[in-house]
Amino acid sequence: MSNNTPMMRQYLEIKSQHPDAILFFRLGDFYEMFMEDAVTASRVLGLTLTSRNKGAVEQVPLCGIPYHSSQGYIARLIDNGFKVAICEQVEDPKDAKGIVKREVVQVVTPGLVVDSDNLQPKENNFLLALAVAEGEHFGLSCVDITTGVFRLTECRGMEELRSEISNLNPREILVADEELTATACGRLKPLFAERLINRLPEWVFEPDRARRLLLDFFGVANLQGFGCEHLHLGVRAAGAVLHYLQQTRQGALDHIRSLSPYACADYLILDAATRRNLELTATQGDGRKKGSLLGVMDRTLTAMGGRKLRHWINYPLNDAGQIRARLQAVGELRDKSMLRGDLRESLDGVYDLERLGARIAMAGAGAKDLVGLRTSLEKLPAILNLLGELEAPLLTHLAAAIDPLEDVRDLIAEALVDDPPFVLREGGLIRDGFNAELDELRLISREGKGWIARLEQQERERTGIGSLKVRYNKVFGYYIEITKTHLARVPEDYQRKQTLVNAERFITPALKEYENKVLGAEERIQALEYDLFQEVRAQVAVQGARLQATADALAELDVLLGLADLAHEADYVCPRIDESTVLHIEDGRHPVVERMNLGERFVPNDVLLDTEEHQLLIITGPNMAGKSTFMRQVALITLMAHLGSFVPARAARIGLVDRIFTRVGASDNLASGQSTFMVEMTETANILHNATTRSLIILDEIGRGTSTFDGVSIAWAVAEYLHDHAPVAAKTLFATHYHELADLALTCKRVKNWNVAVREWNDQVIFLRKIVKGGASHSYGIQVARLAGIPPAVVERAKEVLRNLEAGEFSAEGRPALARGRGRPQAPSPQLSLFDPGSDALRRKLEDIDVSVLTPLEALNVLDGLKKMV
Ligand code: ADP
Repeated sequence: MSNNTPMMRQYLEIKSQHPDAILFFRLGDFYEMFMEDAVTASRVLGLTLTSRNKGAVEQVPLCGIPYHSSQGYIARLIDNGFKVAICEQVEDPKDAKGIVKREVVQVVTPGLVVDSDNLQPKENNFLLALAVAEGEHFGLSCVDITTGVFRLTECRGMEELRSEISNLNPREILVADEELTATACGRLKPLFAERLINRLPEWVFEPDRARRLLLDFFGVANLQGFGCEHLHLGVRAAGAVLHYLQQTRQGALDHIRSLSPYACADYLILDAATRRNLELTATQGDGRKKGSLLGVMDRTLTAMGGRKLRHWINYPLNDAGQIRARLQAVGELRDKSMLRGDLRESLDGVYDLERLGARIAMAGAGAKDLVGLRTSLEKLPAILNLLGELEAPLLTHLAAAIDPLEDVRDLIAEALVDDPPFVLREGGLIRDGFNAELDELRLISREGKGWIARLEQQERERTGIGSLKVRYNKVFGYYIEITKTHLARVPEDYQRKQTLVNAERFITPALKEYENKVLGAEERIQALEYDLFQEVRAQVAVQGARLQATADALAELDVLLGLADLAHEADYVCPRIDESTVLHIEDGRHPVVERMNLGERFVPNDVLLDTEEHQLLIITGPNMAGKSTFMRQVALITLMAHLGSFVPARAARIGLVDRIFTRVGASDNLASGQSTFMVEMTETANILHNATTRSLIILDEIGRGTSTFDGVSIAWAVAEYLHDHAPVAAKTLFATHYHELADLALTCKRVKNWNVAVREWNDQVIFLRKIVKGGASHSYGIQVARLAGIPPAVVERAKEVLRNLEAGEFSAEGRPALARGRGRPQAPSPQLSLFDPGSDALRRKLEDIDVSVLTPLEALNVLDGLKKMV
């Protein structure tokens, strides 16, 4: 280090304070990166890597970017999971004695980006802190600095934690270093997936320290006002969030005005697997919003409305009164189409006032932002007028919450021109008439410019030189240029300034006098305009709380209007919400499939579930018949009703549900290292432990991940448990291709059999998509295989094999062996007449095959292998 230049020493010192960030070191008009940072950044950003001390022994890798285009580069680094520390020159190089003072003014991380290049308009960008206590008890706190949302909650058990993390989908997680190094590490890590994890020292999470930090920040004596004094773990996490914000110097955080506690139990709970299975906000395939429930439901016109709808889907209500209030509002807006249209037209083009408010508070808003705020506010009187014609209590409540902020609107209108430039320091922002001093300076500047413009004409006449020109450059300011041919006619009072090849440049005392006026005034104007702009922005910032409340009300209005629009256009019906345990849907449709499935008309279906007679519906039917679609549609309709939306059905009565559980398919191969069967069983165990009378359970093909006999046995036992565990009697839909399960209804009185109707015609299967009473007698697997394009020879052979198997496997009465003994299914004796009974290898091989998970190609290979064995 001793050999380093003073600047390199300064660099190394600052870098040592930010070892985990890429340091952007400001040098003049560039941010430079050195050493490892330079190597990394050049790779990620595709920059050319050069070096300082080229040729010397101690070469220092180096790369740089112009400071004015840094945003895009920062965005890319953040996107790739890096942190960026921005180090600025904090004194004017002119005043510096020795090396210019530099400091890190901000650390940008994925959870703390504010630049819109790096944000999804319709999604929150959460930073999450996690406090851990004995007994799998967790405190969670999240902040979105782009909107000011700051929340905390507590949860118990890994499953709840997993669910909450998947719900919030934070881009960055803070956790105490000790937690990660301790034994918990192994269990927590899979939850964090690819997110950036920041380990903070344990003391950051200390209860007293965390609490004190929050009290000081909000300027309150206790946390009772926020209703979170008793949430010790949550408070520890919230303290860590605040510590991190302050440490990374996010500037003013005035827009973070409160801390809101929430309890997961106040909402309809959906675990992470259910969220994924039901494709609520993203599809399972490509993770995109299109094709998800949110994709269909989102008709919001503003970004803040988009975020609110996502929140509503992630946190459906479980309070009948609140749900009805939303439904009533949606209903009125649906019925009053004209009004709805007018309201939506007025809302269209309203800026993201939430994020705008945050940028104003953090002094990052430009003049264009403020003008955007003004034009948005100009729409409010019309919106309030229209809202005045509506009666639903929620809508009148929203109308009361929308503050037209006329003072703010008028201030911006008086202060700023309609189309200000992006740059704030070059003038052109402030309207004439707003500030007397500015007006005067502008007059002087204009007069001076006018005088100079007139001078050219005057001097041409005085000298008789037609080509005489008054020009300007940065070095000399204004000057008079005369070509060499006319030099003889130059008057006495001209002072020579510069000689060019063909011309001479002159000045006159009067010209310089006006020039001083003009340039002096321009400089003053630019500085004054910038000051005035900052003043206006600060004045607007003071009204931040009003702006935030208005933004929130507008967001909610946007969501309700969107739901009404959807209800109208897609022909949804208002669900009847009550406190019963009944779920009765008539002619229900799958909200997404009915829109995507263009080739086939969607066939509606009924469902009746309760805790008395129709608690557990076994749904059989061949693959591809529509079992999953039907079950998902029941879950989605239930969920939509709970968030206050109309539903795709002819009629629906929905008793409040506390949780929706789903266990779907064994084919989704999770990258968690567990076998799919293990995952399936863990999720099933979670359901059996946590379901209540108010829960809705969707089980699709459970037991599929193991051999057939194991599978039937497990499926049977699970269904039986759900039925026999009488005090719970959770409403359950159970799809299976084991038609043996239909026999459960013989002994379990709340079990009912349904199947998806198909018709056989000329050895073909036709899907009717209708759910009808009774168990399916036949699985049609071979017909479906034919549909999938399995060669006819294989299909024929499969039929032959099936006939043989059936002859052997089924008892004399033609019923599966299962029906005889409730409790443990007995394995039918495998008399495979097809093969030599002594051929053990062949039998073992056959027994190992799980037909239900084979792909057609694998099936062919297996057949081929078997054939070779005989
Ligand atoms: P299963 O779970 O029985 O294997 P799916 O639910 O996956 O069957 O349905 C197979 C396909 O049938 C789906 O992709 C869907 O497009 C279509 N489908 C399902 N239900 C209906 C319906 N009620 N009306 C129209 N098409 C449907």
